[in-house]
Amino acid sequence: MELGVDDFVIYEGLDRIGGRIHAVPYKDGFLQMGAQFINGAQNPLYKIAHRLGILADAVSDTAHVDYAFYAYGNQQVKQADIKLFLDFTSKLDSKYRAIAENDEITARRYTLKEIFTLDYMDFLKTHNFTTKQKNVFDSLARSFRSYWEFEWAADWSTLSLHVLKEWNDYGTVCESFATDKIGFKAILDDIAEPISKSHFQFNTRIDNIQLNSTTGRMKLTANGQTLPSEFDYVIVTSSLGVLKKYHHLMFSPPLSRQKIEAIEKIGFGGSCKVFFEWDKPFWSNKTYSIAPLPVRGMIRDELDMFEEETTTLQVVDWAPNVLSAWYAGRGHQLVDNMSEGELKFKIAKLMREMYNNEDIPLPKKVIRTQLTKNELLLGSYSYMTQVQALSRISHSQLSMPVKLDGRPKILFAGEATHHRLFQTAVGAFLSGRREADRVVNDWSKHNVTSFKKCIQ
Ligand SMILES: Cc1cc2nc3c(=O)[nH]c(=O)nc-3n(C[C@H](O)[C@H](O)[C@H](O)COP(=O)(O)OP(=O)(O)OC[C@H]3O[C@@H](n4cnc5c(N)ncnc54)[C@H](O)[C@@H]3O)c2cc1C
Repeated sequence: MELGVDDFVIYEGLDRIGGRIHAVPYKDGFLQMGAQFINGAQNPLYKIAHRLGILADAVSDTAHVDYAFYAYGNQQVKQADIKLFLDFTSKLDSKYRAIAENDEITARRYTLKEIFTLDYMDFLKTHNFTTKQKNVFDSLARSFRSYWEFEWAADWSTLSLHVLKEWNDYGTVCESFATDKIGFKAILDDIAEPISKSHFQFNTRIDNIQLNSTTGRMKLTANGQTLPSEFDYVIVTSSLGVLKKYHHLMFSPPLSRQKIEAIEKIGFGGSCKVFFEWDKPFWSNKTYSIAPLPVRGMIRDELDMFEEETTTLQVVDWAPNVLSAWYAGRGHQLVDNMSEGELKFKIAKLMREMYNNEDIPLPKKVIRTQLTKNELLLGSYSYMTQVQALSRISHSQLSMPVKLDGRPKILFAGEATHHRLFQTAVGAFLSGRREADRVVNDWSKHNVTSFKKCIQ
């Protein structure tokens, strides 16, 4: 619209705008089920947030680890051991970034899990720890793993170390900007405001895009029916998860081998927040985040998966009776498959044990979105896999348009197509503008008269 084009339709499968930006009303604010932080200040979303006055503080990505209250109930965990472990891990982030920066071969070859395992083995070898202590460190290592897995929405056994070089927000390393209790709701409203409602077709899922090689125009099938209009260009912004599952049905003719390779090799992972609401907090009002630390061999012989995956619960600063639990990697799948009843029961049991307090009630409410079950999203965001790094595939490969006679016809936007800000709302926003520019450049080159008419 800024470029003077008004002849477009936005087909959205859901009944709302935002997709993976999803602000759920709660009290006088919004719980952000998806995007909440802004990465870097050198980008248009930061500028919008600044203008709207919804920026909170700059926060370290590791704040929830650095300021965590380690809850371990009456298990025999020594504070000195926690400190020892945190001293060991505090150096790893910068070490891994230095490898990514200076040693490309190693960075492309190793996953985060592999490189950490080497360091962890060294850590265990250099001290003469007891079995009990080792079990405590294993619990702490789970917290460390989940920091990486949540940050990158990845199972860390496939997450490439090279991601630390490829991803770049041009800002302070390991720091992003928090938004206030309105946050991304205000950003979405601001972006949507100038777009007339008539441009949106909600609850319209595009099943197929058929490119006519003679006319260069496209027909779309939605909800099983061919739409009456034909289009000169289509910009696809489906998540990489949707493309992975449905690309073979979505495009006629099929996508090129190179495109399919990128779709298959670039990672699309899981990370989600589950909000637990209690009437009143059972945690101290000084708590920033809680890191439950059930230890195998102490609390019981074997931990279940929920205990292993529940590693971080952050207090929502403007709703201090709510904890936001973060799950990633296999943890995301696990909680998406649990009923609300199970979640309430399991979290209360864990908290009772970790706070040594049988009086902690079940949470009153669970607020969550089951992203992996939503066929229009199918996960959280993209990441760089080891196989992608080894194949030297950049996220930007996903942005290559389908062309006809050298002209772009089907274009691709969305976070997973941005070469350095994949994963983020900023990357998604920039990629949309990039593809709008591509369309308008092509149109203006080939339709000088009608384009002029369009801007008049
Ligand atoms: C838990 C979580 C936390 C996050 N935290 C942050 C954060 O703090 N900061 C940040 O910058 N980013 C964060 N993100 C990532 C950010 O939300 C996404 O990168 C961004 O919103 C993706 O935008 P997009 O336009 O690429 O895709 P989407 O938001 O997925 O939009 C694509 C839209 O296309 C629709 N669609 C898909 N297929 C079809 C079809 N066939 N027909 C019609 N419609 C279709 C979908 O319904 C969706 O609305 C987070 C994400 C999650 C899940």
